[in-house]
Amino acid sequence: MNTSRADAADGDHSMTSPAPDMQAKPHIQVPPHPQWPAMSDADRNGLKGRIAELLRRQNAVLVAHYYVDGDLQALAEETGGCVADSLEMARYGTESDADTLVVCGVRFMGETAKILNPEKRVLMPDLGATCSLDEGCPADAFGAFCDAHPEHTVVVYANTSAEVKARSDWVVTSSIALPVVQHLAEQGEKIIWAPDKHLGHYVERMTGADMLLWDGACVVHEEFKGFALDRVRRLHPDAAVLVHPESPDEVVDQADVVGSTTQLIKAVTDMPNREFIVATDEGIFWKMRQLAPEKTLIAAPTAGEGATCESCAHCPWMAMNALSNLERVLIEHHQEIHIDEDIRQRAVRPIQRMLDFARERGIGARGKSD
Ligand code: SF4
Repeated sequence: MNTSRADAADGDHSMTSPAPDMQAKPHIQVPPHPQWPAMSDADRNGLKGRIAELLRRQNAVLVAHYYVDGDLQALAEETGGCVADSLEMARYGTESDADTLVVCGVRFMGETAKILNPEKRVLMPDLGATCSLDEGCPADAFGAFCDAHPEHTVVVYANTSAEVKARSDWVVTSSIALPVVQHLAEQGEKIIWAPDKHLGHYVERMTGADMLLWDGACVVHEEFKGFALDRVRRLHPDAAVLVHPESPDEVVDQADVVGSTTQLIKAVTDMPNREFIVATDEGIFWKMRQLAPEKTLIAAPTAGEGATCESCAHCPWMAMNALSNLERVLIEHHQEIHIDEDIRQRAVRPIQRMLDFARERGIGARGKSD
């Protein structure tokens, strides 16, 4: 593996970081999971009916991520919207003729929708739904880091703010990170990668690219533990292990499939195994059960076995999306995404570069590689 990280010379396989002075790590406040009031089936159906009517009257569509509550995913499908990973969410918004995109996910997904569709209104149930990767990569510090390494091509994961995207050359999602970095490595380019160090390290291992890694992590995926996973695998020897590459090395190394949310869902439907151990946000189980109800899904173990917010395998920010605040935003329009036009124009280029690359290579939910 070719690596330019200064402290990788000892052959250590573990994470290393770029110059510490460039990465003053922000403290990330992880919120508790919101406690949404329990609803009867009649109340839930009534609420879903009112939301469907609001969507219809406003020519609005739901664009939902696989990690949000199953009720929201079902409603998105029932009302003609989409349920997808972040690459497909971005693409769907550009192809929809709706006037309003209602993004059920986290803030960077809403911002990406607005960057690509400035003429559309973009609403979210809660603009406070952020992401530990986004929070852990402040634009000022990241800009200084890029300035210190001007010979590097800047590749950022979609889980970043509009300002960080505006500073980048490429934006990638987990569906497309490997082919983009492989392509850049073949051109001999050195790469700055941000913000997820685990995904960056996985990409570095798979491609041999020369990469400087930002020191960020997903609070959900970082909690999956290799030792405990090994124990679960012994209990279920015929189960296939599906892992999102934001997970630590010792978890990725035990995977039968490493991939994006879309790729993991496809593995459940396509592989002959009856059991799957799944190391990603449990919100994905809704779609997996819908497509393969005969398969058994086992949640991969985390450190705290549900004891803390970070260790329950469900993103606390994704959990901020619910039917009740979705209805409210469709009435009040108070949670709308706005982006400075100069930043938007600079951020759209690396996103469009990714979408063009995906289209040319047939990568994505509608292409050959997902
Ligand atoms: S699951 Fe992790 S990467 Fe995804 S939004 Fe939550 S904190 Fe961010």
